[in-house]
Amino acid sequence: MVSKGQGLHSRSSVVLDKVLALLGDLRATTAGCIIHGHIEQMLGEMVADHHKTEEAYASFLSMLLEACLSQIPAENPLHTHLRLLQMRLMPPLSVSELGALNRCIEAVSDEMLNTSPLRGSDLAPALRPLLTRFGVLEGGSAVTSPPAAKAEPHQTQAEQRVNAAYRAHLDEKREAMQRLQSDFVEQMDEAVAEYDAFGELLDSALNVMRKAGDVEELEKRRLEIIQALEQIRSGHDALAEKFSRAQEYLGLIEDDNQQLSDELDRVRLLSLTDELTGLPNRRAFMRRLEDEVSRVQRHGAPLSLVIMDLDFFKKINDLRGHAAGDAVLCHYAKGVLSIFRHHDLVARYGGEEFAVLLPNTDQTGVLRALEKVRRRLTDLAAQLNEEGGVLLPTFSAGVAEYSSGETAHSFIERADAALYTAKRNGRDRVEVHTGDGIAEARGGPRVPG
Ligand code: GH3
Ligand code: MG
Ligand code: MG
Repeated sequence: MVSKGQGLHSRSSVVLDKVLALLGDLRATTAGCIIHGHIEQMLGEMVADHHKTEEAYASFLSMLLEACLSQIPAENPLHTHLRLLQMRLMPPLSVSELGALNRCIEAVSDEMLNTSPLRGSDLAPALRPLLTRFGVLEGGSAVTSPPAAKAEPHQTQAEQRVNAAYRAHLDEKREAMQRLQSDFVEQMDEAVAEYDAFGELLDSALNVMRKAGDVEELEKRRLEIIQALEQIRSGHDALAEKFSRAQEYLGLIEDDNQQLSDELDRVRLLSLTDELTGLPNRRAFMRRLEDEVSRVQRHGAPLSLVIMDLDFFKKINDLRGHAAGDAVLCHYAKGVLSIFRHHDLVARYGGEEFAVLLPNTDQTGVLRALEKVRRRLTDLAAQLNEEGGVLLPTFSAGVAEYSSGETAHSFIERADAALYTAKRNGRDRVEVHTGDGIAEARGGPRVPG
C-alpha cells in the first residue's frame, strides 16, 4: 500500500505502475490482453482526472494568494514571499500540506477581519506559518513589514459605512471560504481512503486473477476491477465538480471585493475632492498644508499661502441664479486658477473662497503669480462676456509667507487677516501679511462684476 503522507499525483502514478506490472504476465493470453488493455485505459483516465483535480486546486490557491497580494504593496518583502509561496504551492500536495493550508487560510481571514481592509502588511503574522511550512521563510526569520500607515484620525461617515460594509462582507465570505476549505480537505481524505481500499481490492482481485485458470473466472474478476475503477472515477468527478464550483465562487468573491475596493477608493477620493470644481477640497488642503509646514520646518525653504475670495459673488446668485454662480466657480477653478504651477496646490477652501499653497515661493514670487492670475482673469472675463454674456467677478486675496516656527493654524490666520484687510480696503486687491502688520501690495484693475 502507498503510505498516507505521499502526494496524490505520485500516489496515482504508483497505483498505475503497480497494476500494470501485475498485469504484465496476463498479456501472454488473448483474454489477458483484453483485460490488460481495459485496465490500462481506465487507469490512464483516472490519473488524468487526478491531474485535472490537482490543477484546479493549484489555480484555486493561486487566486486566493492573488487576493492577498492585491492587499500588499509590491515593495513590502511579504509580497515577494507570497510570490515564492505561490510557486511552491504546485501539485503534488500531501494531505498534511492541505491541512496546513486550511488552518492558515482561516487565520488569514481572521486577520483580515480584525484590520483595516487596505493594510495588507497586517496579514504577515497570519501568513507566517504558511510561509514557514512551505520553506519560503526560515523558521526564525521575521516577516518584515514597513510601518503601518498612520490611522486616519477622522474617518468620514461615508468611509465608516464602507468599512463596516467591507467587514460584514469579509465576515460572510470568510465563513463560506472556511466551509469550502474544510469540505475540500475532507474530500481529499476520502479520496485517499478510497485509494487505499481500492488498492487492497485490486491486490486480491489480481492475485485471484493470476491463479484463475479459466476465461470465465478471469472475466468475472475483470468486471470487478472495472466496477471498482468506475467507483473511484465517479469520486473524482464529484471532486472535480466541487473544484469548479469553488473556483466560480472565488471568482464571485473577487468581483465583490473589487467592487467594494473601487467604492472605497471612490469615497476616499470624494472625501478629498470638491465635487463642483474637481479641485482638492479644504480637507485635502489642510493635509497638504500640514505636510508642507513640517517639510519647511525641516529644510527651511520659503512657503507662501494665498486665500482668495470672489468679490460680490452673492450678487451673481441673486441676479442670475445659483447655476450661474456655480458656473463662475468652475470658470475660476479651471480657467483662471489653472495658471498656477502644477506643484502649487489650488484648493476650494469654502463657498467662493480658494486657497493656494506655493512651495519654494517667497512673497515676491507670490505677488508675481497673482499678477498673472489677474491678467488671466481679465482676458477670460472679456472672452466669456463676449461669447455668452458670462460675468466673472474680481477677487480679493490675502497673502502670507511662512514664518519660521509658526503653526499651520497661525499661518492660515495671517493670510485670512490679510484677505479681510483687502475686503475692507475696497476689494479687487491683494494684501500681504508681513508678520508685524498688514501691508497693501496692490489694487487691481476692475474686471466686469
Ligand atoms: P464679498 O465681496 O464681501 O466677498 O461678498 P460676497 O457676496 O462674495 O460674499 P458673501 O459671503 O456675502 O456671499 C458668498 C455667497 O456665496 C453666499 C453663498 O450662497 C454663495 N455660495 C457659496 N457656495 C456656493 C456654491 O457652491 N455655488 C453657488 N452658486 N454659490 C455659493
Ligand atoms: Mg466673496
Ligand atoms: Mg466668502
